[in-house]
Amino acid sequence: MDTATLDKILARLAEEIPNYRVPVVDLIAVQTRDPYKVLVATILSARTRDETTAVAAARLFAKAPDLDALSRLTEGELARLIHPVGFFRNKAVYLTQLPEAVNKLFGGRIPDTVEELVKLPGVGRKTANLVVAVAFGKPAICVDTHVHRIMNIWGYVQTATPLATEMALRAKLPDRYWLTINSMLVAFGQAVCKPLYPHCDRCPVVRWCPRIGVTPRRVPAGSTAVGARPELRLISWNVNGLRAIAGKGFTGIVRQLAPDILALQEIKAHPEQLPKEVRELPGYHAYWLPAQRKGYSGVATFSRREPLAVRYGMEVEEFEGEGRVLTLEFADFFLINAYLPNAQPELARLDYKLAFCRRFTEFAAGLARQKTVVVCGDFNVAHREIDLARPEENRQSPGFSREERAWMDLFLAAGFVDTFRLFHAEGGHYSWWSYRGGARQRNVGWRIDYFCVDVASRPRVKAAAILPEIMGSDHCPVELLLVAPLPS
Ligand code: SF4
Repeated sequence: MDTATLDKILARLAEEIPNYRVPVVDLIAVQTRDPYKVLVATILSARTRDETTAVAAARLFAKAPDLDALSRLTEGELARLIHPVGFFRNKAVYLTQLPEAVNKLFGGRIPDTVEELVKLPGVGRKTANLVVAVAFGKPAICVDTHVHRIMNIWGYVQTATPLATEMALRAKLPDRYWLTINSMLVAFGQAVCKPLYPHCDRCPVVRWCPRIGVTPRRVPAGSTAVGARPELRLISWNVNGLRAIAGKGFTGIVRQLAPDILALQEIKAHPEQLPKEVRELPGYHAYWLPAQRKGYSGVATFSRREPLAVRYGMEVEEFEGEGRVLTLEFADFFLINAYLPNAQPELARLDYKLAFCRRFTEFAAGLARQKTVVVCGDFNVAHREIDLARPEENRQSPGFSREERAWMDLFLAAGFVDTFRLFHAEGGHYSWWSYRGGARQRNVGWRIDYFCVDVASRPRVKAAAILPEIMGSDHCPVELLLVAPLPS
């Protein structure tokens, strides 16, 4: 994950966190900026639930509001006061030693640097960083189990230990997050991204999270919690050659996008020609429909969920062999991954394309009589003038001919919705750019990649987007967020 994506996640979490419980050490810091209390509460909080820490800290501070008072308590008294925090006996020993150590090493002042704080009994780097950040408001990155775990789930770091995470974050994390990252991720880790079975089904940042190494919880049946209607992230992408894009960070991009279903077009390869890490994307079931002709056309669909059935082609012989239509059937919808033919220069293949598209309409409309149909892929048609940058120059170009646009009208009239236009009425959004003349930099493009759904299923569409920042092909991915149907 890059820092731009992290920015989006942390901005979203900043809106969300006020709804979560605040970690106890931050609560204590809000009540008092007293470094002594923040230090002691932080020592108590290690391996202890927040509720337990809060009660124990209140009991202790009532008897020992400062270092002097602490020094007058015996180890036994301290153990009784802080019981049942985790390792309370060890912590009682540290607390007995603390006043003398602070007096001797720092003249009675709680130090404000990590290097000094770790010299005190019972204070490790995590505690020291937290005290520096929370009590003194100084730049420090406190890496506890939540920060370490979540930063690795997001792929922002790839580290084995919290110390390695701290070092990696010091080198990479923008300063503006140093003070707040711990409290944000502790609150988020306790409420949503839990250590065991994170609640991905109600996670506000799920669209950016690659969920590395995660097993999400099962959504409780009949749950009515916010977000309990499970949401699927579908991505469609004409990759213009899987072998080519494999060498351009394809697997990393997929991890970053974290789709539930990934539909690829123009793969131009048979699975056995691909590197294993592409052929067997971890966490996905893969279905292939390559063209008979090697290095040409072809589609593939990867799905986290195993489908009930898979259909290869459209059951009409004259349209088979070019690897263009692959359908996965799930309990509540069909996903049709399509790579519609190109009409070719001089519209040499227009008749074939139109015949293919007519059959495609019948095929999709037939499935829509059974349940939700999601159609995605490269249609090789820009529907309206706002769907390409230079309509005037392309009146009879393949992909914008009157006949192809008329077919698209008929397809929509047959009961389908262009989901992108549900959310974006304006022009300037494209999914394909010629490699020539810096077209992508100048955004001289065409919108020819679509997600469509049958009209009746429109309420299931939560969002639709184009992802022009994703490079690697002359097309960019397009995205659909589909929610589960409402119970009937
Ligand atoms: S999507 Fe799941 S794994 Fe990712 S941050 Fe959210 S809860 Fe954690």
